[in-house]
Amino acid sequence: MPPDPSFELNFEGLRRAVDLLDGRAVSGSPQHDLPASLPDTGLGEAAVLERLAVDVLGRAAYLDASHAMAHMDPPTPWITWAVALWNARLNQNLLHPATAPFAREAEERVVAWLAPVFGMNGGHMTPGSSVANLTALWAARDLRGVKKVVASSASHLSIRKAARILGLAFVEVGVDQGHGLDRATLPVDLSDACLVLTAGTTTVGAVDPLDCCGRAAWTHVDAAWAGPLVLSARYRDRLSGIEQADSVALSAHKWLFQPKESALVMFRNSEAANSAISFGGAYLAAPNIGVQGSHGAAGVLLLATLLAWGREGLAARIERCMDNARRLADFIAAHPGLELFPDGGTGVVVFRPTSHPVEAFHAALPQGLASSATIDGHPWLRCVSANPNADIDKNIETIEALVLHASGLGSGVESLA
Ligand SMILES: *Cc1c(COP(=O)(O)O)cnc(C)c1O
Repeated sequence: MPPDPSFELNFEGLRRAVDLLDGRAVSGSPQHDLPASLPDTGLGEAAVLERLAVDVLGRAAYLDASHAMAHMDPPTPWITWAVALWNARLNQNLLHPATAPFAREAEERVVAWLAPVFGMNGGHMTPGSSVANLTALWAARDLRGVKKVVASSASHLSIRKAARILGLAFVEVGVDQGHGLDRATLPVDLSDACLVLTAGTTTVGAVDPLDCCGRAAWTHVDAAWAGPLVLSARYRDRLSGIEQADSVALSAHKWLFQPKESALVMFRNSEAANSAISFGGAYLAAPNIGVQGSHGAAGVLLLATLLAWGREGLAARIERCMDNARRLADFIAAHPGLELFPDGGTGVVVFRPTSHPVEAFHAALPQGLASSATIDGHPWLRCVSANPNADIDKNIETIEALVLHASGLGSGVESLA
């Protein structure tokens, strides 16, 4: 039997795929003819590329668009597209050293580079911070016998989820006006608690008082969003105290510009943590650490990015995002028709129009410029500065023009008194 060409290098097909990458150039109207049930007969790879380009690339939201600022999802550098292609071709599994001789080393290396920046000494990659948070709380429970998780009302839903999965009580504490954890509401006795502090809350980007690290049996810092600020000499101070945590979660697919799914869980004492969260198995040559079984080579993409840019290059891109957020926040603060939510200082800008209904205002903005957020039952708009190429002047102009000309949206529909 000749080899099956589907598993062989097809330069023509791959070149075509690369040519199609600029999806904004993909023409053809959206197709709505996906088979309702599993097709018996395949179309063949070449036809599928053309067929899917119209939808996958033609109907996508482009996070590198000049107005894209709605979510914590960044555009990704092209080096990661290239390495992702290599990864798909190799399909390495870090669970098995034999299938991933270099990929395991790559992940170990990026963890060894990043963990010390947070005062941690090791860890591993996870598909996201939701899993990183779960893993950290698992270690906290099994190493320190914690019975409850204490976190603010602005903490991420993955903290409650992890507490539920692990059978731990969840104790919610209060926040101040800017959504940072209000230390006055902390229980006095935290000796059986894992305290979770957030560095960059998801809704408004607030940083909890990180000097509370060390007050509980275990302190975990959820730095999914704002963690990368420690790489910038200009902004590092905003996270000072994080190095006293027992564990830190960081989403590389947020402010480290990685394709999903890419995140890290890091531990102050990773040998101890690994002993609590590892399992051996008859078919395994090395213990399985953490929640995942099969584990892909996302570390190679992160390695490529860190090698391409260095710490300074990465910091420069984050600082550019911070400059953009600053300018947008300054504009909003100074505009009588707009109200700024207290700035959390991590590139998340939350605001609302003072005399137009928020939902109608949002609907009139270009899609992808802002997302909606509900704070204390009231609607707000949120821009996240994750796109270094956002055209901030144009976005400010767009918002300004809408405030000026939005009388058609009506006013006084909701009271902002
Ligand atoms: C995004 C986010 C998470 C969840 O991270 P994923 O990578 O989406 O799983 C957790 N905590 C905070 C503060 C976040 O912003």
